[in-house]
Amino acid sequence: MSATQFDYILVGGGLQSGLIVLALKHYQPHAEVLVVERGDRLGGNHTWSFHPKDVSAIASAWLESIVEYRWPSYQVRLKRFEKKIDLAYASISSEHFASMVMGSTDNNGSVVVRTNTEVTEIRRNSITTSKGEKVSGRLVLDCRGPGPSSALPYSMCGYQKFWGFEITLQSDWPYDGPIVMDDRVDQADGFRFIYSLPFERRRVLIEDTRFSNESAIDRDECLAQVRKYLSAIGVEDWSIVREEHGILPMPISPELFPGTNRQFQTGENSQALCGGYAGGWFHAATGYSFPLAIAFAETIATSTPESAELEVAKLAQMHGARARFGRFLNRLLFRLVKPSTRYQIFRRFYKVLSNDSIARFYSHRFTWRDAFRIVVGWPPGGLQPIRFISSFLPAVAKTSAMTNPQSATNSLKEMSI
Ligand SMILES: Cc1cc2nc3c(=O)[nH]c(=O)nc-3n(C[C@H](O)[C@H](O)[C@H](O)COP(=O)(O)OP(=O)(O)OC[C@H]3O[C@@H](n4cnc5c(N)ncnc54)[C@H](O)[C@@H]3O)c2cc1C
Repeated sequence: MSATQFDYILVGGGLQSGLIVLALKHYQPHAEVLVVERGDRLGGNHTWSFHPKDVSAIASAWLESIVEYRWPSYQVRLKRFEKKIDLAYASISSEHFASMVMGSTDNNGSVVVRTNTEVTEIRRNSITTSKGEKVSGRLVLDCRGPGPSSALPYSMCGYQKFWGFEITLQSDWPYDGPIVMDDRVDQADGFRFIYSLPFERRRVLIEDTRFSNESAIDRDECLAQVRKYLSAIGVEDWSIVREEHGILPMPISPELFPGTNRQFQTGENSQALCGGYAGGWFHAATGYSFPLAIAFAETIATSTPESAELEVAKLAQMHGARARFGRFLNRLLFRLVKPSTRYQIFRRFYKVLSNDSIARFYSHRFTWRDAFRIVVGWPPGGLQPIRFISSFLPAVAKTSAMTNPQSATNSLKEMSI
Protein backbone atom coordinates (compact mmCIF):
# COMPACT_ATOMS: atom_id res chain seq x y z
CA MET A 1 0.00 0.00 0.00
CA SER A 2 1.38 3.43 -0.95
CA ALA A 3 1.80 6.17 1.69
CA THR A 4 -1.32 8.02 0.57
CA GLN A 5 -3.65 5.07 -0.09
CA PHE A 6 -5.70 3.96 2.92
CA ASP A 7 -8.35 1.28 3.29
CA TYR A 8 -10.59 3.71 5.20
CA ILE A 9 -10.54 7.49 5.43
CA LEU A 10 -12.73 8.86 8.24
CA VAL A 11 -13.56 12.54 7.93
CA GLY A 12 -14.19 14.06 11.38
CA GLY A 13 -12.83 12.65 14.62
CA GLY A 14 -15.99 12.55 16.76
CA LEU A 15 -18.11 9.76 18.20
CA GLN A 16 -18.88 7.97 14.94
CA SER A 17 -15.32 7.89 13.63
CA GLY A 18 -13.96 6.81 17.01
CA LEU A 19 -16.41 3.91 17.16
CA ILE A 20 -15.44 2.86 13.65
CA VAL A 21 -11.74 2.88 14.61
CA LEU A 22 -12.47 0.69 17.66
CA ALA A 23 -14.62 -1.72 15.63
CA LEU A 24 -12.02 -1.92 12.84
CA LYS A 25 -9.31 -2.64 15.40
CA HIS A 26 -11.42 -5.60 16.55
CA TYR A 27 -12.50 -7.02 13.19
CA GLN A 28 -9.77 -5.86 10.80
CA PRO A 29 -6.70 -5.11 12.96
CA HIS A 30 -4.47 -4.65 9.93
CA ALA A 31 -6.69 -2.22 8.03
CA GLU A 32 -4.95 1.06 7.13
CA VAL A 33 -7.11 3.85 8.53
CA LEU A 34 -6.79 7.63 8.35
CA VAL A 35 -8.82 9.91 10.67
CA VAL A 36 -8.85 13.61 9.85
CA GLU A 37 -10.18 16.04 12.46
CA ARG A 38 -10.27 19.81 12.18
CA GLY A 39 -10.12 20.38 15.94
CA ASP A 40 -7.04 19.91 18.08
CA ARG A 41 -8.26 16.63 19.61
CA LEU A 42 -10.60 13.75 18.98
CA GLY A 43 -14.06 13.60 20.54
CA GLY A 44 -14.87 17.26 21.21
CA ASN A 45 -16.45 18.05 24.58
CA HIS A 46 -19.29 15.65 25.41
CA THR A 47 -20.49 13.09 27.88
CA TRP A 48 -22.10 10.28 25.92
CA SER A 49 -24.58 8.14 27.82
CA PHE A 50 -26.41 5.07 26.70
CA HIS A 51 -28.12 1.92 27.91
CA PRO A 52 -25.67 -1.00 27.75
CA LYS A 53 -28.64 -2.90 26.29
CA ASP A 54 -28.21 -0.63 23.22
CA VAL A 55 -25.13 -2.66 22.46
CA SER A 56 -25.56 -6.01 20.77
CA ALA A 57 -23.78 -8.98 22.31
CA ILE A 58 -21.41 -8.99 19.33
CA ALA A 59 -20.54 -5.28 19.56
CA SER A 60 -19.90 -5.46 23.32
CA ALA A 61 -16.73 -7.44 22.51
CA TRP A 62 -15.11 -4.24 21.20
CA LEU A 63 -17.10 -1.65 23.16
CA GLU A 64 -17.26 -3.01 26.72
CA SER A 65 -13.73 -1.97 27.65
CA ILE A 66 -14.26 1.70 26.84
CA VAL A 67 -17.22 2.27 29.18
CA GLU A 68 -16.11 4.74 31.84
CA TYR A 69 -19.07 4.88 34.26
CA ARG A 70 -21.80 2.36 34.82
CA TRP A 71 -24.89 2.31 37.06
CA PRO A 72 -27.27 -0.64 37.64
CA SER A 73 -30.41 1.54 37.40
CA TYR A 74 -31.64 5.12 37.13
CA GLN A 75 -34.63 7.22 38.16
CA VAL A 76 -37.23 9.49 36.63
CA ARG A 77 -39.22 12.08 38.64
CA LEU A 78 -42.11 13.70 36.81
CA LYS A 79 -44.61 15.71 38.86
CA ARG A 80 -45.87 13.33 41.50
CA PHE A 81 -44.62 10.27 39.64
CA GLU A 82 -41.31 8.68 40.63
CA LYS A 83 -39.88 5.48 39.26
CA LYS A 84 -36.68 3.53 39.54
CA ILE A 85 -35.91 2.00 36.15
CA ASP A 86 -34.04 -1.26 36.56
CA LEU A 87 -31.97 -0.88 33.44
CA ALA A 88 -28.22 -0.39 33.47
CA TYR A 89 -26.99 3.02 32.30
CA ALA A 90 -23.48 3.92 31.18
CA SER A 91 -21.44 6.99 30.24
CA ILE A 92 -18.18 7.85 28.54
CA SER A 93 -16.54 11.27 28.61
CA SER A 94 -15.13 12.42 25.28
CA GLU A 95 -11.72 12.74 26.94
CA HIS A 96 -11.74 9.07 27.98
CA PHE A 97 -13.16 8.07 24.59
CA ALA A 98 -10.38 9.94 22.77
CA SER A 99 -7.73 8.28 24.92
CA MET A 100 -9.18 4.82 24.18
CA VAL A 101 -9.27 5.56 20.44
CA MET A 102 -5.73 6.95 20.48
CA GLY A 103 -4.62 3.96 22.58
CA SER A 104 -5.93 1.60 19.93
CA THR A 105 -3.73 3.35 17.36
CA ASP A 106 -0.49 2.56 19.24
CA ASN A 107 -0.31 -1.13 18.44
CA ASN A 108 1.01 -1.29 14.92
CA GLY A 109 0.67 2.17 13.44
CA SER A 110 -2.05 1.19 10.99
CA VAL A 111 -4.35 3.97 12.25
CA VAL A 112 -3.13 7.48 11.48
CA VAL A 113 -4.83 10.42 13.21
CA ARG A 114 -4.41 13.94 11.87
CA THR A 115 -5.83 16.73 14.00
CA ASN A 116 -5.93 20.48 13.20
CA THR A 117 -6.70 19.52 9.59
CA GLU A 118 -9.89 20.58 7.85
CA VAL A 119 -11.21 18.47 4.99
CA THR A 120 -12.41 20.74 2.22
CA GLU A 121 -13.52 18.22 -0.38
CA ILE A 122 -14.88 14.73 0.04
CA ARG A 123 -15.21 12.25 -2.80
CA ARG A 124 -16.08 8.59 -2.86
CA ASN A 125 -12.42 7.53 -2.87
CA SER A 126 -10.46 10.63 -1.92
CA ILE A 127 -10.37 13.74 0.22
CA THR A 128 -8.63 17.09 -0.07
CA THR A 129 -7.52 18.96 3.04
CA SER A 130 -7.22 22.68 3.71
CA LYS A 131 -3.46 22.15 3.48
CA GLY A 132 -3.96 21.24 -0.17
CA GLU A 133 -3.13 17.58 0.33
CA LYS A 134 -5.12 14.98 -1.58
CA VAL A 135 -5.38 11.53 0.00
CA SER A 136 -7.05 8.51 -1.52
CA GLY A 137 -8.69 5.54 0.10
CA ARG A 138 -10.75 2.49 -0.79
CA LEU A 139 -13.64 3.90 1.26
CA VAL A 140 -14.21 7.46 2.46
CA LEU A 141 -16.68 7.95 5.30
CA ASP A 142 -18.07 11.39 5.99
CA CYS A 143 -18.56 11.65 9.78
CA ARG A 144 -18.57 15.42 10.18
CA GLY A 145 -21.36 15.51 12.75
CA PRO A 146 -24.47 17.66 12.97
CA GLY A 147 -22.88 20.95 11.94
CA PRO A 148 -24.23 24.29 13.17
CA SER A 149 -27.90 24.29 14.14
CA SER A 150 -28.42 27.34 11.91
CA ALA A 151 -27.71 25.16 8.85
CA LEU A 152 -29.76 22.09 9.79
CA PRO A 153 -31.56 20.55 6.84
CA TYR A 154 -34.99 20.16 8.49
CA SER A 155 -37.98 22.09 7.28
CA MET A 156 -39.67 21.25 10.60
CA CYS A 157 -38.19 20.17 13.92
CA GLY A 158 -38.21 20.70 17.66
CA TYR A 159 -35.10 20.79 19.83
CA GLN A 160 -33.66 19.01 22.80
CA LYS A 161 -31.27 21.55 24.25
CA PHE A 162 -29.22 21.42 27.39
CA TRP A 163 -26.44 23.07 29.31
CA GLY A 164 -24.48 20.79 31.60
CA PHE A 165 -22.23 21.71 34.52
CA GLU A 166 -19.82 19.17 35.95
CA ILE A 167 -19.50 20.13 39.58
CA THR A 168 -17.49 19.03 42.58
CA LEU A 169 -19.13 19.06 46.02
CA GLN A 170 -18.00 19.47 49.59
CA SER A 171 -20.57 16.94 50.83
CA ASP A 172 -21.99 13.73 49.34
CA TRP A 173 -24.50 13.88 46.48
CA PRO A 174 -27.92 12.88 47.87
CA TYR A 175 -28.86 10.36 45.14
CA ASP A 176 -27.31 6.99 44.32
CA GLY A 177 -27.61 6.83 40.56
CA PRO A 178 -28.52 8.95 37.55
CA ILE A 179 -31.79 10.86 37.49
CA VAL A 180 -32.51 11.21 33.79
CA MET A 181 -35.54 13.47 34.30
CA ASP A 182 -36.43 15.55 37.34
CA ASP A 183 -38.94 18.25 36.49
CA ARG A 184 -38.85 20.10 39.83
CA VAL A 185 -37.73 23.27 38.00
CA ASP A 186 -39.47 26.24 36.39
CA GLN A 187 -41.34 25.07 33.32
CA ALA A 188 -40.51 27.90 30.95
CA ASP A 189 -39.44 27.38 27.32
CA GLY A 190 -41.00 23.96 26.71
CA PHE A 191 -40.88 20.91 28.90
CA ARG A 192 -37.91 21.34 31.21
CA PHE A 193 -36.06 19.04 33.60
CA ILE A 194 -32.77 18.43 35.36
CA TYR A 195 -30.59 15.48 34.36
CA SER A 196 -27.90 14.34 36.79
CA LEU A 197 -25.09 11.81 36.53
CA PRO A 198 -23.13 11.15 39.72
CA PHE A 199 -19.69 10.07 38.45
CA GLU A 200 -18.47 9.99 42.04
CA ARG A 201 -20.13 10.82 45.39
CA ARG A 202 -18.70 14.32 45.09
CA ARG A 203 -18.47 14.84 41.34
CA VAL A 204 -21.67 15.16 39.34
CA LEU A 205 -22.77 16.26 35.87
CA ILE A 206 -25.97 18.26 36.21
CA GLU A 207 -27.83 19.53 33.16
CA ASP A 208 -30.74 21.87 32.57
CA THR A 209 -32.56 20.21 29.64
CA ARG A 210 -35.57 21.27 27.57
CA PHE A 211 -37.76 19.94 24.81
CA SER A 212 -38.52 23.21 23.11
CA ASN A 213 -39.77 24.62 19.82
CA GLU A 214 -36.94 27.16 19.87
CA SER A 215 -33.22 26.47 19.52
CA ALA A 216 -31.86 29.40 21.56
CA ILE A 217 -30.31 28.62 24.93
CA ASP A 218 -28.82 30.94 27.52
CA ARG A 219 -25.99 29.61 29.68
CA ASP A 220 -26.55 31.95 32.64
CA GLU A 221 -30.23 31.22 32.76
CA CYS A 222 -29.49 27.46 32.81
CA LEU A 223 -26.96 28.01 35.58
CA ALA A 224 -29.54 29.94 37.60
CA GLN A 225 -31.95 26.95 37.31
CA VAL A 226 -29.25 24.49 38.28
CA ARG A 227 -28.31 26.65 41.27
CA LYS A 228 -31.95 26.76 42.40
CA TYR A 229 -32.31 23.00 42.01
CA LEU A 230 -29.13 22.29 43.97
CA SER A 231 -30.27 24.54 46.75
CA ALA A 232 -33.70 22.83 46.82
CA ILE A 233 -32.13 19.40 47.25
CA GLY A 234 -29.77 20.67 49.96
CA VAL A 235 -26.52 20.87 48.00
CA GLU A 236 -24.90 24.17 48.94
CA ASP A 237 -21.14 24.09 48.59
CA TRP A 238 -20.11 23.28 45.01
CA SER A 239 -17.99 24.55 42.16
CA ILE A 240 -18.00 24.08 38.39
CA VAL A 241 -15.09 22.12 36.89
CA ARG A 242 -16.36 21.71 33.29
CA GLU A 243 -19.30 22.64 31.07
CA GLU A 244 -20.88 21.17 27.94
CA HIS A 245 -23.95 22.05 25.96
CA GLY A 246 -25.94 20.80 23.02
CA ILE A 247 -28.85 21.70 20.77
CA LEU A 248 -30.05 18.44 19.29
CA PRO A 249 -32.58 18.69 16.47
CA MET A 250 -35.65 16.49 16.86
CA PRO A 251 -36.92 16.29 13.29
CA ILE A 252 -40.55 16.18 12.30
CA SER A 253 -40.04 16.50 8.54
CA PRO A 254 -38.53 13.65 6.49
CA GLU A 255 -35.02 14.92 5.74
CA LEU A 256 -31.89 13.05 6.79
CA PHE A 257 -33.19 9.56 7.42
CA PRO A 258 -30.55 6.97 8.39
CA GLY A 259 -28.38 6.30 5.37
CA THR A 260 -29.13 9.49 3.48
CA ASN A 261 -26.21 11.67 2.56
CA ARG A 262 -26.41 15.34 3.35
CA GLN A 263 -23.43 16.39 1.30
CA PHE A 264 -24.54 14.43 -1.75
CA GLN A 265 -28.01 15.91 -1.52
CA THR A 266 -26.86 19.47 -1.12
CA GLY A 267 -24.38 18.98 -3.92
CA GLU A 268 -21.54 20.30 -1.76
CA ASN A 269 -19.43 17.22 -2.12
CA SER A 270 -20.10 14.02 -3.90
CA GLN A 271 -21.18 10.58 -3.00
CA ALA A 272 -19.19 9.64 0.07
CA LEU A 273 -20.96 7.36 2.51
CA CYS A 274 -22.10 9.27 5.62
CA GLY A 275 -21.93 8.03 9.21
CA GLY A 276 -23.08 9.54 12.51
CA TYR A 277 -25.26 12.62 12.61
CA ALA A 278 -24.20 13.66 9.11
CA GLY A 279 -25.77 10.49 7.72
CA GLY A 280 -28.95 10.61 9.79
CA TRP A 281 -27.77 7.85 12.15
CA PHE A 282 -29.50 9.13 15.26
CA HIS A 283 -32.75 8.47 17.09
CA ALA A 284 -35.19 11.17 15.95
CA ALA A 285 -37.22 11.02 19.17
CA THR A 286 -34.36 11.03 21.69
CA GLY A 287 -31.77 13.01 19.72
CA TYR A 288 -29.17 10.45 20.77
CA SER A 289 -26.91 8.77 18.29
CA PHE A 290 -24.89 6.28 20.32
CA PRO A 291 -26.94 3.13 19.50
CA LEU A 292 -27.12 3.80 15.75
CA ALA A 293 -23.48 4.89 15.63
CA ILE A 294 -22.54 1.51 17.15
CA ALA A 295 -24.65 -0.33 14.56
CA PHE A 296 -23.08 1.70 11.75
CA ALA A 297 -19.53 1.06 13.05
CA GLU A 298 -20.24 -2.66 13.39
CA THR A 299 -21.56 -2.77 9.81
CA ILE A 300 -18.55 -0.95 8.38
CA ALA A 301 -16.05 -3.07 10.27
CA THR A 302 -17.66 -6.37 9.32
CA SER A 303 -17.80 -5.44 5.60
CA THR A 304 -15.01 -4.80 3.15
CA PRO A 305 -14.50 -1.23 1.91
CA GLU A 306 -16.10 -2.33 -1.36
CA SER A 307 -19.16 -4.07 0.16
CA ALA A 308 -19.79 -1.46 2.87
CA GLU A 309 -22.20 0.65 0.84
CA LEU A 310 -24.54 -2.25 0.20
CA GLU A 311 -24.45 -3.40 3.84
CA VAL A 312 -25.10 0.15 5.06
CA ALA A 313 -28.09 0.38 2.71
CA LYS A 314 -29.51 -2.78 4.31
CA LEU A 315 -28.97 -1.31 7.79
CA ALA A 316 -30.70 1.91 6.73
CA GLN A 317 -33.66 -0.05 5.43
CA MET A 318 -33.96 -1.85 8.78
CA HIS A 319 -34.20 1.50 10.59
CA GLY A 320 -36.36 3.44 8.11
CA ALA A 321 -39.80 2.67 9.59
CA ARG A 322 -38.58 3.36 13.13
CA ALA A 323 -37.09 6.68 11.99
CA ARG A 324 -40.49 7.58 10.54
CA PHE A 325 -42.21 6.68 13.82
CA GLY A 326 -39.68 8.81 15.74
CA ARG A 327 -40.62 11.77 13.58
CA PHE A 328 -44.29 11.09 14.19
CA LEU A 329 -43.66 11.16 17.96
CA ASN A 330 -41.88 14.49 17.56
CA ARG A 331 -44.86 15.84 15.65
CA LEU A 332 -47.11 14.83 18.55
CA LEU A 333 -44.72 16.29 21.11
CA PHE A 334 -43.93 19.60 19.42
CA ARG A 335 -47.13 20.26 17.49
CA LEU A 336 -49.99 18.54 19.27
CA VAL A 337 -49.12 18.77 22.97
CA LYS A 338 -48.72 22.11 24.72
CA PRO A 339 -45.31 22.68 26.35
CA SER A 340 -46.93 22.78 29.80
CA THR A 341 -48.40 19.28 29.44
CA ARG A 342 -45.49 17.59 27.61
CA TYR A 343 -44.37 15.98 30.85
CA GLN A 344 -47.48 13.77 30.66
CA ILE A 345 -46.10 12.08 27.53
CA PHE A 346 -42.90 11.11 29.34
CA ARG A 347 -44.74 10.12 32.49
CA ARG A 348 -46.93 7.81 30.45
CA PHE A 349 -43.89 6.43 28.61
CA TYR A 350 -42.17 5.43 31.85
CA LYS A 351 -45.41 4.31 33.50
CA VAL A 352 -46.75 1.91 30.88
CA LEU A 353 -43.64 0.54 29.20
CA SER A 354 -41.76 -2.44 30.61
CA ASN A 355 -38.02 -2.10 31.10
CA ASP A 356 -37.43 -4.23 28.02
CA SER A 357 -39.66 -1.95 25.91
CA ILE A 358 -37.85 1.13 27.22
CA ALA A 359 -34.52 -0.45 26.34
CA ARG A 360 -35.76 -1.38 22.86
CA PHE A 361 -37.06 2.15 22.32
CA TYR A 362 -33.76 3.81 23.22
CA SER A 363 -31.74 1.36 21.15
CA HIS A 364 -33.94 2.03 18.07
CA ARG A 365 -35.03 -1.59 17.98
CA PHE A 366 -38.59 -1.12 19.20
CA THR A 367 -41.38 -3.30 17.88
CA TRP A 368 -44.76 -2.22 16.52
CA ARG A 369 -46.27 -3.46 19.77
CA ASP A 370 -43.97 -1.07 21.70
CA ALA A 371 -44.94 1.75 19.33
CA PHE A 372 -48.62 1.00 19.91
CA ARG A 373 -48.13 1.08 23.70
CA ILE A 374 -46.40 4.47 23.43
CA VAL A 375 -49.12 6.27 21.48
CA VAL A 376 -52.37 4.55 22.39
CA GLY A 377 -53.92 5.63 25.67
CA TRP A 378 -55.71 8.45 27.42
CA PRO A 379 -54.52 11.65 25.71
CA PRO A 380 -52.80 14.32 27.79
CA GLY A 381 -54.67 17.55 28.51
CA GLY A 382 -53.90 20.74 26.61
CA LEU A 383 -53.88 19.53 23.01
CA GLN A 384 -53.46 21.89 20.05
CA PRO A 385 -55.31 20.03 17.26
CA ILE A 386 -55.27 22.94 14.81
CA ARG A 387 -51.52 23.44 15.14
CA PHE A 388 -51.06 19.69 14.76
CA ILE A 389 -53.23 19.35 11.64
CA SER A 390 -51.76 22.45 10.05
CA SER A 391 -48.27 20.97 10.48
CA PHE A 392 -49.18 18.51 7.70
CA LEU A 393 -49.92 21.34 5.28
CA PRO A 394 -47.07 22.12 2.89
CA ALA A 395 -47.57 25.86 3.45
CA VAL A 396 -46.64 25.50 7.12
CA ALA A 397 -43.47 23.57 6.36
CA LYS A 398 -42.68 26.25 3.81
CA THR A 399 -43.21 29.05 6.32
CA SER A 400 -40.99 27.41 8.92
CA ALA A 401 -38.33 26.81 6.25
CA MET A 402 -38.57 30.46 5.18
CA THR A 403 -37.17 31.44 8.56
CA ASN A 404 -34.02 29.60 7.51
CA PRO A 405 -33.37 30.03 3.76
CA GLN A 406 -30.42 27.63 3.84
CA SER A 407 -32.55 24.88 5.31
CA ALA A 408 -35.28 25.57 2.75
CA THR A 409 -32.83 25.10 -0.12
CA ASN A 410 -31.47 21.93 1.41
CA SER A 411 -34.92 20.48 2.04
CA LEU A 412 -36.12 21.04 -1.48
CA LYS A 413 -33.03 19.45 -2.95
CA GLU A 414 -33.30 16.54 -0.57
CA MET A 415 -36.95 15.92 -1.32
CA SER A 416 -36.26 15.79 -5.01
CA ILE A 417 -33.81 12.88 -4.63
C1 LIG B 1 -22.95 17.93 24.54
C2 LIG B 1 -23.61 16.76 23.85
C3 LIG B 1 -23.92 15.63 24.59
C4 LIG B 1 -24.52 14.53 23.94
N1 LIG B 1 -24.84 13.44 24.69
C5 LIG B 1 -25.29 12.34 24.07
C6 LIG B 1 -25.52 11.16 24.82
O1 LIG B 1 -25.40 11.15 26.04
N2 LIG B 1 -25.89 10.04 24.16
C7 LIG B 1 -26.07 10.03 22.81
O2 LIG B 1 -26.37 8.98 22.23
N3 LIG B 1 -25.93 11.16 22.09
C8 LIG B 1 -25.54 12.31 22.68
N4 LIG B 1 -25.36 13.44 21.95
C9 LIG B 1 -25.76 13.44 20.54
C10 LIG B 1 -24.72 12.78 19.61
O3 LIG B 1 -24.41 11.49 20.06
C11 LIG B 1 -23.43 13.57 19.53
O4 LIG B 1 -23.70 14.80 18.94
C12 LIG B 1 -22.33 12.83 18.77
O5 LIG B 1 -21.11 13.45 19.09
C13 LIG B 1 -22.52 12.81 17.25
O6 LIG B 1 -21.49 12.02 16.70
P1 LIG B 1 -20.84 12.33 15.27
O7 LIG B 1 -19.62 11.49 15.17
O8 LIG B 1 -21.87 12.22 14.24
O9 LIG B 1 -20.44 13.87 15.33
P2 LIG B 1 -19.37 14.59 16.26
O10 LIG B 1 -19.09 13.78 17.47
O11 LIG B 1 -19.85 15.98 16.43
O12 LIG B 1 -18.05 14.57 15.37
C14 LIG B 1 -17.91 15.30 14.19
C15 LIG B 1 -16.46 15.75 14.10
O13 LIG B 1 -16.19 16.18 12.77
C16 LIG B 1 -15.31 17.29 12.84
N5 LIG B 1 -15.42 18.02 11.58
C17 LIG B 1 -16.49 18.71 11.10
N6 LIG B 1 -16.22 19.21 9.87
C18 LIG B 1 -14.96 18.80 9.57
C19 LIG B 1 -14.12 18.99 8.44
N7 LIG B 1 -14.53 19.68 7.38
N8 LIG B 1 -12.87 18.46 8.45
C20 LIG B 1 -12.44 17.73 9.52
N9 LIG B 1 -13.19 17.53 10.62
C21 LIG B 1 -14.44 18.05 10.64
C22 LIG B 1 -15.81 18.06 14.07
O14 LIG B 1 -14.80 18.93 14.57
C23 LIG B 1 -16.15 16.92 15.02
O15 LIG B 1 -15.08 16.58 15.88
C24 LIG B 1 -24.81 14.56 22.56
C25 LIG B 1 -24.52 15.73 21.84
C26 LIG B 1 -23.94 16.82 22.48
C27 LIG B 1 -23.66 18.07 21.67
